[in-house]
Amino acid sequence: MTVQTAKTIYLDNNATTRVADEAVQAMLPYFGEKYGNPSSMHVFGGAVSRDVAKAREEVARFINASPEEIIFTSCATESDNTALRGTASFHGKDLRIITTAVEHPAVLQCVRRLKAEGHDVRTIGVDNLGRLDLDALKEALSGAKKALVSVMWANNETGTIFPVDEVAAICKEHGAIFHTDAVQVAGKLPVDVQKTPVDMLAMSGHKFHAPKGIGILYVRKGTKTRPFMLGGHQESGRRAGTENVPYIMALAEACRLAREGMAAETVRLAAMRDKLEAGLMAACPDTLVNGDREHRLSNTLNLSFKYIEGEAIAYHLSDLGICVSTGSACASGSLEPSHVIRAMGVPFTAVHGSVRFSLSRYNTMEDIDYVLAEMPPVIKMLRDLSPFGPDNDPTTFK
Ligand SMILES: *Cc1c(COP(=O)(O)O)cnc(C)c1O
Repeated sequence: MTVQTAKTIYLDNNATTRVADEAVQAMLPYFGEKYGNPSSMHVFGGAVSRDVAKAREEVARFINASPEEIIFTSCATESDNTALRGTASFHGKDLRIITTAVEHPAVLQCVRRLKAEGHDVRTIGVDNLGRLDLDALKEALSGAKKALVSVMWANNETGTIFPVDEVAAICKEHGAIFHTDAVQVAGKLPVDVQKTPVDMLAMSGHKFHAPKGIGILYVRKGTKTRPFMLGGHQESGRRAGTENVPYIMALAEACRLAREGMAAETVRLAAMRDKLEAGLMAACPDTLVNGDREHRLSNTLNLSFKYIEGEAIAYHLSDLGICVSTGSACASGSLEPSHVIRAMGVPFTAVHGSVRFSLSRYNTMEDIDYVLAEMPPVIKMLRDLSPFGPDNDPTTFK
């Protein structure tokens, strides 16, 4: 029987976030009196065009880029596709493409297609903490005429932060083009494309309190790539299609909020996350932390509750009004365990019991206290039902 609760404790912010009230306010005029097309010649469109230019400056400032280096897209999936396919299209089949085993499907599926189309593709693995093998990256780069490296800044499932500064330096040494999927770091870590010399970078509005349906692609001046969307001359000919003006306005506001709030917010999020981690680890034996605790996003906690199914945990938590995810949201609906957790070589009995908690500016310490009170009994109940346990562990069967 499904129990209805009034409470919703939303801990799935790496999947999507609530749009900030300030961002909603910022976009409303552009559905109403300011509905002009920025490409129009008349003053009505011209005013909107100037507002879009200001928004572009705010977005550029967020990552310390120039406004001309910012392309607005429909989502980060489009940004990743444009970066990878646009670069592959420009350089042709000689381009070697190097990525990691733990990327988001927006990168993985794109790279898989490029491989089918004849590109030499190399995939870098991670260790059991989810850390990138930089020697394997250097090896993959050696001997390539021209290479494109796509390494995410932080992982959406475990929160593990990759050493993008080192990756960028290695790419520079080898003359390789470096794209990073930085979706999960927006608003969580400072991003400065002058300090971290990436060539291309993707972000998504809905992962940091702007609406769904707006993305950012940063392309460093001089980077050779071809547009993915052909048509009009919008975005200086790099992405055709009439600008999504209301969402661009909301995105700029989300960038401003993230930039101004980030320092205090990351400390607040880490305190909540650490309390959640310590509390659950103490209350639930046979639980593992997935990911690199030393280099982890302040808002993310991924735990494996051994001997039980993550789906069953999420289902019971949902009845209590607690929203979490298992694997990635995109993989939910299939019972395939997460490719990220599997790539880390997590033992079989723990892979299936993985649950991700991801926090945002709308969470409070009361949310954490509620989870700490309600969740351990759910884990105990599921463990009591499970045929497996420390004394009956299928990974140790002879
Ligand atoms: C959510 C996400 C994406 C896809 O973003 P959309 O804007 O939903 O297309 C890409 N990469 C990572 C790491 C993500 O978390």
